Amino acid sequence: MQFRDLQKQYQILKPEIDNAIQEVLTTANFISGQQVVELEEQLAKYVGVKHCITCANGTDALTLALMVWNIGKGDAVFVPDFTFFASGETPAYEGATPVFVDVEKDTFNISPVSLEQAIVKVKEEGTLIPRAIVAVDLFGQPANYPKIREIADKYGLLILEDGAQGFGGQIGSQKACSFGDISTTSFFPAKPLGCYGDGGAIFTDNEEWAELLRSYRVHGKGMDKYDNVRIGINSRLDTMQAAVLKVKLKAFQAYELTDVNRAAAKYTELLSNIDTKFALPIIAEGYYSSWAQYAILLPKDTDRNAVQTHMKTAGIPTMVYYPKPMHRQGAFEGMDGAVTDCPVTEELCKKVLCLPIHPYLTEEDCKAVVTALEAAS
Ligand SMILES: *Cc1c(COP(=O)(O)O)cnc(C)c1O
Repeated sequence: MQFRDLQKQYQILKPEIDNAIQEVLTTANFISGQQVVELEEQLAKYVGVKHCITCANGTDALTLALMVWNIGKGDAVFVPDFTFFASGETPAYEGATPVFVDVEKDTFNISPVSLEQAIVKVKEEGTLIPRAIVAVDLFGQPANYPKIREIADKYGLLILEDGAQGFGGQIGSQKACSFGDISTTSFFPAKPLGCYGDGGAIFTDNEEWAELLRSYRVHGKGMDKYDNVRIGINSRLDTMQAAVLKVKLKAFQAYELTDVNRAAAKYTELLSNIDTKFALPIIAEGYYSSWAQYAILLPKDTDRNAVQTHMKTAGIPTMVYYPKPMHRQGAFEGMDGAVTDCPVTEELCKKVLCLPIHPYLTEEDCKAVVTALEAAS
């Protein structure tokens, strides 16, 4: 069994994907081809924002947003302690200080209470200027944007939605990647919407920021790329990836998102039926997840390594996202302000275990995983 079965997806989409790639090869417009423009239009429409600017990966997408806001030395950026490294790495790369904030026990997303405490603390200390909140849509579920927006407004902060795992999620009828002042996503192959290499996108309703983003991603271009009015980077989505994504976005909308939700519901049903000692994923009322991960918590003091080894022997791959709180990463060691107290994150890192999840996972697959998990623990 595959953790995320990209081979099966390709077999199903093969005729369309092969055609799309062939067309790129024939027209040979490898950078900034028409497919990139078309994809950006389709993504903006799907998400429900005015502007989509694609770029080379989800990490650059975060960096470009921070560049537009001129965030750097002396600025505090609030980041959940339980996330992928890039969420905190990018503000630090820009010279700002990531301030790590604990997450909610149930949704694993940034805790509004801990967030406000951290903002107040930074203001009281007075050495850093609070500027932005990186809210991560962890494992596919949007963060608590109604509450985060209230806090952001109260303290005059910008919201950067890191939707790398969240594409396709919703709160009510509003789509993920539309909640931030700027929102980003990643098309890394294993994400909910993935391409065949690296890729990313940035979303905003703000015309001026959209223009700046288009400039920064191509060497700070002015009139054209040989007129350079600011220091930028080179971060484009190539035509081949755009062509693949156009095919995959269609499948994502037509059935993949529904099917991955069906697979997740099957796990939850099967795991609830056994006398369960596992904490199952909780999707908040009115929220919809794109299930980048199906993460359970093992009981206290379970030997997680042993469970993983047992399951691997039964042919079931599992993953630990994430084994380490951000504030314990060596890269942030000694960074003033970065270290906080995050007991929920500490506990999650010890107990979390992610099961195989993707739209092509069958009911039989789910049963096999649950059987192996029962036997292993
Ligand atoms: C994957 C991921 C990123 C980075 O995306 P890349 O395309 O790999 O650069 C950023 N944030 C989160 C939460 C992610 O999961």
